[in-house]
Amino acid sequence: MNTVVDTALIQSLDSAHFLHPFTDFKDLNGRGARVITRAEGVYVWDSEGHRILDCMSGLWCVNAGYGRKELADAAHQQMMTLPYYNSFFQTTNVPAVQLAAKLASLAPDVGDRSFQHVFYSSSGSESNDSNVRMVRRYWDLLGQPQRKVIISRNNAYHGSTMAGASLGGMSGMHAQGDLPIPNITHIEQPYYFENGLPGETAEEFGVRAAGWLEEKILAVGPDKVAAFIAEPVQGAGGVIIPPSTYWPEIQRIVDKYGILLISDEVICAFGRLGHWFGYEKFGYKPDLVTFAKAITSGYMPLGGVMVGNRVAKVLIEQGGEFNHGYTYSGHPVACAVGLANLEIMEREQLPQKVHGEIGAYFAQRYAELNDHPLVGVAETCGFVGGLVLVKDKARKTRFHGDDGVGMICRGHCFQNGLIMRAVGDRMIIAPPLIMTRADIDEMMRLIYLALDLTQTELKARGLL
Ligand code: PMP
Repeated sequence: MNTVVDTALIQSLDSAHFLHPFTDFKDLNGRGARVITRAEGVYVWDSEGHRILDCMSGLWCVNAGYGRKELADAAHQQMMTLPYYNSFFQTTNVPAVQLAAKLASLAPDVGDRSFQHVFYSSSGSESNDSNVRMVRRYWDLLGQPQRKVIISRNNAYHGSTMAGASLGGMSGMHAQGDLPIPNITHIEQPYYFENGLPGETAEEFGVRAAGWLEEKILAVGPDKVAAFIAEPVQGAGGVIIPPSTYWPEIQRIVDKYGILLISDEVICAFGRLGHWFGYEKFGYKPDLVTFAKAITSGYMPLGGVMVGNRVAKVLIEQGGEFNHGYTYSGHPVACAVGLANLEIMEREQLPQKVHGEIGAYFAQRYAELNDHPLVGVAETCGFVGGLVLVKDKARKTRFHGDDGVGMICRGHCFQNGLIMRAVGDRMIIAPPLIMTRADIDEMMRLIYLALDLTQTELKARGLL
């Protein structure tokens, strides 16, 4: 395919017509967007011919890597057979059924919460809106309509719709939309580096951080709480990896008060943490699992909710009509691509790879960053990694929010052919699961280069 483009023309049309998500429009128009034109394997190319190692898998989604002809073929074939039909009025389609059955077979049994059912959407945000609707419907059907409150966490990301952004704990998002909507409340995240007390071990902190959920349940009133929602590892918030004691204690608390547990696995499912689902990694038992992104490796928009038996039973056996759904729920092309993508992941054993030797190598190499003078702590979980940039390593002194250290470092990454994302003073990665040892070595070389250049620039600016 011809990928030669007139960069200046595309940039000017971009400024004139395309309002980008999560973007300062004026600022972007002033500098011009980088035009990404093609991709293959673990690399993307821009319109100026620069090759960039994509260590964010697009936006946490291209788990099987770029250039998969099988996925294009699956889409082509399904478009020519049945490009679209709805599933509202007692009709169904083959790929949607097959994918739901496949997901049910991949989700490990967690007792009365085992996952036999799927509700489809086209994105993570929509899926979390569906969660809110489903959770409330569940409690209504059980004769407890007063159970409305959903507890989430500060700095969580659960989407950008009104309900998704409300569930999320991003203060900047709340400020712009009069959010959260009623009956959604937040507790602090389990961020040991930031909130651990002097002398407190990570394990002790994990139990204390989970205890904030119990405090909140008691403050709200246990009979008013419907559910707790959380990401297994907080992704967009900066790859906040909970201590090993956190999830078991959360499980104990949700069980004690009989509230539903929603695991938002839009990032953590499909091999990202070395398992098909993130809850397997931490060994907890959710009632609802949000998925999107890597279900198709990002090749088609598709999301949904895995509905555990405890909830599904009530919705199916006690419910009348559930007044909720989307035009594209169970879209045949998206589902066909999802099926083909899961086939690739199974055949190439991508979750097992992350769980096994290549994941161990990734963890070992990334941990070496702990020796860099600019790094407060560097941690991984499966194929996600996060590090915090610090002013004074020994004292763990953070930079000032306005210093923009993350964006400085991100600039050096991009400039040298590496995509690493900045979240405040944290630098994060989530590379495609197909990374080889050689790719990991190249990634590490580029990360060190970017960190060294950042250090030099910070010194020159008087910030170090
Ligand atoms: N939940 C989580 C955990 C996410 O990371 C995201 C997206 N980054 C979403 C929900 C929202 O997904 P989408 O952008 O597809 O609506």
